[in-house]
Order: sequence, then C-alpha cells, then structure tokens
Amino acid sequence: TSTVASESVTKMHDDKRFKPGAAKPFVGDLGVRQGFLDAIGNTPLIRLKRASEMTGCEIYGKAEFLNPGSSVKDRAALYLIKDAEERGLLKPGGIIVEGTAGNTGIGLALVANARGYKTVIVIPKTQSQEKKDMLLIAGAELVQVPAVPYKNPNNYVKYSGRLAEHLAKTNPGGAIWANQFDNKANRQAHYETTGPEIWAQTEGKVDGFVCAIGTGGTLAGTGKYLKEKNPNIRIGMADPMGASMFNYYANGELKSEGTSLTEGIGQGRVTGNLEGWGQPTREGGVVDFWCQVPDEEALPLIYDLLKEEGLVMGGSTGINIGGAIKLAKELGPGHTIVTILCDYGTRYQGKIYNVDFLKSKNLPYPEWLDTSTKTSQ
Ligand code: PMP
Repeated sequence: TSTVASESVTKMHDDKRFKPGAAKPFVGDLGVRQGFLDAIGNTPLIRLKRASEMTGCEIYGKAEFLNPGSSVKDRAALYLIKDAEERGLLKPGGIIVEGTAGNTGIGLALVANARGYKTVIVIPKTQSQEKKDMLLIAGAELVQVPAVPYKNPNNYVKYSGRLAEHLAKTNPGGAIWANQFDNKANRQAHYETTGPEIWAQTEGKVDGFVCAIGTGGTLAGTGKYLKEKNPNIRIGMADPMGASMFNYYANGELKSEGTSLTEGIGQGRVTGNLEGWGQPTREGGVVDFWCQVPDEEALPLIYDLLKEEGLVMGGSTGINIGGAIKLAKELGPGHTIVTILCDYGTRYQGKIYNVDFLKSKNLPYPEWLDTSTKTSQ
C-alpha cells in the first residue's frame, strides 16, 4: 500500500472539515431513496471557484448532472409521466412518445422502465451518438429524423405528436405524447422542486438565477418560484448563438443569427412552458435579464472547469455559466448567483471533447484536450 495515500487518509479523518456529516447537509439529502424515481432531484449546489473569483460574486451551479439519468431533464420526465398517469392516459404497457434532443428521452425511458411503460423517441440525426446509444441501452425505440426547422411538418417535435396520435389508437395500453415543449407539467417540476431547493440551499440569500432555454421549463418554473419568494431576485436568460430568444426578450422579435454546437438549448419560439411565467417582466413574466453567449466564450469555461475544478460538463452548462458571469458583472461584487449544471460531459465525448471535431469547426481548444499524444500502448 502507498504510505503517502494512507497518511493522507489518516490526516483527512483528523481534519474536522472532513468529518462525516460535518458538511452542511442540504434539504432532504440524508435519507435513503426508494428507487429511481425517488432519487430524482435534491441535487447539491456546487460553488464554481473560478467564476466566483473572476466576478467577486458567489456563483453556484445546481448539480443536475447528479440526477440518476444524469441530466436536469429527469425532473421534467418524472412530472410529464406523472401528469399522464393522473389524467388516466397510461395503462401498463403504455407507450410514451417524445421528440427530444436526447436528455428528456433518456429521462423518459428510465422513468418509463421504472413504471412499466415503453418509449419511442424521435430525435434529430444531428444529436450526439452517446445520447443515442444511451437511449437504446435504456430500451427506447429510436426514430431518427432530419434536423429541420419547427415550421417544417417533419420537424422532430411535430413528427412525434403525429406518431403518438397514431399509436394511441392502436396500442392497448394507450400512448401519450409527452410534449415537453408545451406541456406545463414540465415547468411545474421546476416550480415544485428546483426552485424550492435553491431557495432552501441558499437560505433565501440568492440574488440571481440564470439559465438557457431548451423548452423553457427550467427557466420559467425555477424563475417563477424564486421571484414569488423575493421579487428582487434577478431572473436571467442566457442564449446560445442561433437561437431567437435574446432578440425576443430584448425587443419582442423572434430573430436569430449565428450557430452553436451546444445541444438541448436554443429555442426559436415562445413555447407553452414560456407562456406567462417565462415572459419578460414587461409582459407579466419573471425574466428581467438576458444575454447571448457565443461558443467561443462558453467552451473555454467548461474546459477550465474540467481542468481546474474537476467538473466535466456538457456545452449548455458553458452557456449557463457564461450567463451567470454576465449577470454577476451587472450586479457587481458580493452577490449570490445560481445557475444549472445541466448534464455530464461524457455525453459529448465525440464532439466538444473531441479535438478533431473542434478543429473541423475551427474552434479553439486547450492543448491538454489533445489526448492522442498521451495514450501509452
Ligand atoms: N441543457 C441540456 C443539455 C438539455 O438537454 C436541456 C433540455 N433540452 C436544457 C439544457 C434546457 O432545459 P429546459 O428544457 O428546461 O429549458
């Protein structure tokens, strides 16, 4: 055995900071979870060191990648399925159909397994192979469609709606279209869980919350809850390039420019989950800060996070942290800002963590990411 290692383990036990239970527990953490569904939520808040030091604020990431399906979308998946059950639309053997960029599908497939349903997932061909593989492992049937805009009838969202309608007529257990974009059970998950958790974890001392929009469920639900608790909390939207929301919040126009490699975010319309709660404050909603974060800014943030803080995150997390930094700069030092660490980076090994891919997109990458020179035979 290594003496260096065993010495430091002994030291660790002597150190008060590492005593089991010495760290402040967050609400509901210490109990045993009764299975997959019960393990969703109650994720820790992790202080982001570099972002905090850079701004003089306390910036925290809500560790949604620690959900049992490894993303923020487990919460929505659980609520979408619970909602269908409560409405009597699913019986054993029922089918859940959804158009998804991946994470919602993974969440739905896993929740479905735990509840005795099947899943059919309609996914744009452009999404990462890792997510598609995970969907298949989880037991989902995959329907791959070309990535076309929402107004095209073969867009993955509309296609999944039609497929669900067809299956509902023929499958004895019933079939539902989860419809994460417009079904408000999605944002209700964040209103009832993510928001209250952040409020409890920060003991109400939170000045800002920022995240990007995929469906808008996280932003609308969490933002609405926090704003109700304290109307002075700033609720911020961080948009990747190529999405239309920045212009929408700024001047009411759904207009986009540029592109982004990030997945799961970047919306071109006001979804059902954004209606009301997720609108800018001038329209009666809760969103009162908006910014755009280009990939050139977001990707270095997640590479630094991996190299310096040990957190390996997907691209949307880079957009979120970029947005949190921008809000911190607007508020000035001494404020507490929370954002979302959406999913785990290994879901994107072939893309944003792949040097050949980044080179092909002319994007900068840190030298250490080039692992080709480090592998021993
Ligand atoms: N990040 C990733 C990786 C996602 O998959 C999603 C959901 N599509 C989001 C962020 C955005 O979450 P929401 O749908 O609640 O807006």
